[in-house]
Amino acid sequence: MRVLLRDITTEYHTEQVRKDFVANASHELRTPLAIINGYLENLTEGDLLKDQDTALRFLKIMGKHGRRIARIVEDMLIISRLESGEANTLKIKPFRLKSCALDVVERLESVISTQGASVNLQMEVPEVRLAGDRFYWTQILFNLVENALKQNPQIPLAVTVGWREEASGLIIWVEDNGVGIPSSDLPFIFRRFYRVEKHHSQEEIKGTGLGLSIVRRAVEAHEGKIEVGSIPGEATRFEITLPPQMILPEGSNTPDDSA
Ligand code: ADP
Repeated sequence: MRVLLRDITTEYHTEQVRKDFVANASHELRTPLAIINGYLENLTEGDLLKDQDTALRFLKIMGKHGRRIARIVEDMLIISRLESGEANTLKIKPFRLKSCALDVVERLESVISTQGASVNLQMEVPEVRLAGDRFYWTQILFNLVENALKQNPQIPLAVTVGWREEASGLIIWVEDNGVGIPSSDLPFIFRRFYRVEKHHSQEEIKGTGLGLSIVRRAVEAHEGKIEVGSIPGEATRFEITLPPQMILPEGSNTPDDSA
C-alpha cells in the first residue's frame, strides 16, 4: 500500500495566520465594545438620562468608539477583499497618479494646516498614467501620508510624495522627517494590528493598526513591492516599485483627465 504524503507546512502557517487574525481582531473590537456597553449600562441603570449634560457626554464617547469599530471593520473588509485573490477585486482602469495625490492632500488639508505641517509633491513625471485601481492607489497614498501626520503631531513635519520613472518601473515614495520607526520594529510594521508604541489606554490609539497591511496588499495586488527605511528624527521613507507594464503610454484618454 502506498501512502501519499503531503507537505502541510504552508497550510499550517496559513491556518496559524488566520487564527492570529481572528484573535487580534476580536481583541481590537472587544475593547471599544466594552466601553460602549459600560456607558450604556451607566445611562440606563444609573438613571442618568435626566442629567442631559452627562447623558450627552456619554453619548459622544459612545459615538467615538462606535466609529472606531466601524473603521476597524471597514479596514478588515478591505484586507479580506484584497486577500481573496479574486480576479475582479481590482477594477483596473487607466488613471493619473497625480489625481490621487491631489485627492489625498485635499482630504487631509485640515489636519495638515492644524499641525502646521507641509506636504510637497515631487513629481518627475507629473502626468504619468497607470493601469490600476484608482480607489486603492488613493488609499495607499492616503494611509502613508496620514501615518506620517498621525505619528508626528508635535513636529513641524515635512512630508514629500513623489515618483520617477526608472528601468525597473515607477518608483513612488512617501517620506517624512518625523520621529521615525526603530530598526527593530521595521520588519513587523506591515503585519496586521502591529503598532510600534504599545498603548496602555484607548485614548492614545491613533489608528486601526491595519493601514500598512492594506498598503502592502494593495501594492502587491498591482504586482508591485514596497520597502521602508527609517532614520528616526531624520527621514522615514516608504518606497514602492511598480513594474513597467503598469505604466501606460501617453496619448490615449484617461477618465480622470479633467481631474
Ligand atoms: P496604524 O493604524 O496604527 O497607523 P499602520 O499599519 O498604518 O497602523 O502602521 C503600523 C505602525 O507603524 C504605526 O502604529 C506606527 O507605529 C508605525 N508607523 C507607520 N508609519 C509611520 C511613520 N511615517 N512614522 C513613524 N511611525 C510610523
